[in-house]
Amino acid sequence: MASPYEGPVQSLVDELGRLPGIGPKSAQRIAFYLLKAAPEDAKRLAKAVVEAKERVSWCRRCFNFAEGEFCVYCRDDRRDPSVLCVVEEPRDIVAVERTQEYRGRYHVLLGAISPIEGIGPEQLKIKELLSRVGDEGVKEVILATNPNIEGEATAMYLARLLKPLGLRVTRIASGLPVGGDLEYADEVTLGRALEGRREVDA
Ligand code: ZN
Repeated sequence: MASPYEGPVQSLVDELGRLPGIGPKSAQRIAFYLLKAAPEDAKRLAKAVVEAKERVSWCRRCFNFAEGEFCVYCRDDRRDPSVLCVVEEPRDIVAVERTQEYRGRYHVLLGAISPIEGIGPEQLKIKELLSRVGDEGVKEVILATNPNIEGEATAMYLARLLKPLGLRVTRIASGLPVGGDLEYADEVTLGRALEGRREVDA
């Protein structure tokens, strides 16, 4: 099918349609919204995208988003360095922080093991996790990957690597909606899941 719109409109629809969770209809709706919006509103959005891309990268230690070398949690001396909470994505840190139950540090894997999508352990920040555990005097690793097939497989894989190192390795408790993502869990449920975390048998 030929593109129904002229050059710049079609490019905008195409670019928006590449975003996760945005189907063709939503892409059109957002494009028209932006075209109708006041120029300064549209420019503010464009500027936010450009600035975020220029100024934000990955924390050198935990792979959270960071402005500069290290993220806010790695820079904060009040956080307990002996506990590491392992999550799949930076957005999961936001979910854990919302519970106000956690005062340790984080490690972001930047994904989960998924044979279907061709994602193996070597594509995740697992090597980096292992070297942190050795270097930073970590005593407990909390596996807070998502409660779905990929997240469980990743947690089991990590538990098998970490347990022989003599650490406490825990998994957030069940009670989270199975198949879901951490980010959709409300803070009370996730807070309970953290508190009720259990030692992993691997
Ligand atoms: Zn960090």
